[in-house]
Amino acid sequence: RYDVLIVGAGHGGAQAALALRQLKFAGSVALLGDEPDPPYERPPLSKEYFSGEKSFERILIRPPTFWPERNIELLLGRRVAAVHPAEHRIALSDGAHLGYGKLIWATGGAPRRLSCSGSNLRGVHSVRTRADADRMLAETIRARNIVVIGGGYIGLEAAAVLAKIGKHVTVLEAMDRVLARVAGEPLSRFYEAEHQAHGVDIRLNAQMDCLIGKDGWVSGVRMADGSILSADMVVVGIGIVPAVEPLATAGAAGVNGVEVDQFCRTSLPDIYAIGDCAIHANPFASTQKIRLESVQNANDQAIIAVKHIMGEPTPYHSVPWFWSNQYDLKLQTIGLNLGYDDIVMRGDPANRSFTLVYLNQGRVIALDCVNSVKDYVQGKALVLVHATPDKSRLSNCEIPLKTLAT
Ligand code: FAD
Repeated sequence: RYDVLIVGAGHGGAQAALALRQLKFAGSVALLGDEPDPPYERPPLSKEYFSGEKSFERILIRPPTFWPERNIELLLGRRVAAVHPAEHRIALSDGAHLGYGKLIWATGGAPRRLSCSGSNLRGVHSVRTRADADRMLAETIRARNIVVIGGGYIGLEAAAVLAKIGKHVTVLEAMDRVLARVAGEPLSRFYEAEHQAHGVDIRLNAQMDCLIGKDGWVSGVRMADGSILSADMVVVGIGIVPAVEPLATAGAAGVNGVEVDQFCRTSLPDIYAIGDCAIHANPFASTQKIRLESVQNANDQAIIAVKHIMGEPTPYHSVPWFWSNQYDLKLQTIGLNLGYDDIVMRGDPANRSFTLVYLNQGRVIALDCVNSVKDYVQGKALVLVHATPDKSRLSNCEIPLKTLAT
């Protein structure tokens, strides 16, 4: 039996273990995960790790020796199959059982799979784990034509890396613009143009029918109109399905994730959930409960859960932030743009350095800053205080954002 058992050795799980020891938790702590590696950073899988700029050692969250030194037991390559809340016990897929005092559920999600025929062909990839990235990397060498399905951040980041190494890349996006779910139209159009300038074929409103193959390997994508796009490799980036089945089966409330309160408590006794799998009322989202898929959210919720366990309850109140690297463009996002009714542009996309400010009834709710670190740093205050700056001043790059945070 562990005093605290953390399931999922990714960003949130690792941060929870770190926070327990940083806050001098003296009890036993185990960090259990189904991947074979110690905790590592996931974002580089579609960025610096995928491009070869960073080795695996460089994306480890801590060196492997760190965990035993802090008396954190790593139980790797093991998967939770069932949770028994009344008995404070979990069952693993290898048949073992472990008891817990408090359970922190930090399992993230599994890549959503294509439901069409051909999705099991070899050469079809998604990027969630190191193993996924390694498999994809190994095959990239022999691939010439690569189709990326989904124009979200992960798909576009992978497209950028692949285009840079000379692959012929096509991005299929079902909506009428890339990043439609997460960004305003000016940002979508900017990234579409950037990718096109790098030779990427961006196809919007793309309706695919299925994947076709030859000798077990993918060879193309058949579109709804019957046309066929040749593909030696397919990268699927169409979102994740939260990995909550054992908790849901045990009775935890939540649909498409596990619901938590402001202290990251689930509806089950002594069980917390954090990160990509946790549905919560975010103070920076209008009214609806959401899941956030970001390192910031996983790390900050980890600390909230740990503080509650340590008897220092602190409601979750972090300003959301996120980043994406494509080519030489560094996008940094602060706040949540859900429900925006207006966008103000600071700077000129033609200069490849600009900021989109999202407003709701005149209040600043989020900023997307492209190669614009200063606006990112200063913009946080505007989101925090729900600033209502004059729009003409907001659009004037000569006026620093920090002077508008009232
Ligand atoms: P994870 O880090 O996914 O960790 C969950 C772990 O639990 C995994 O190892 C999983 O295998 C394991 N697990 C699942 N089920 C079980 C089970 N039943 N038993 C045992 N173990 C289990 N975020 C950003 O903020 N910026 C970025 O630029 C960015 N880029 C990204 C690029 C890629 C390619 C990906 C995949 C994600 C990116 N993200 C980015 C999102 C970010 O990585 C996630 O939000 C973050 O990892 C969430 O942390 P987590 O702890 O909730 O889940």
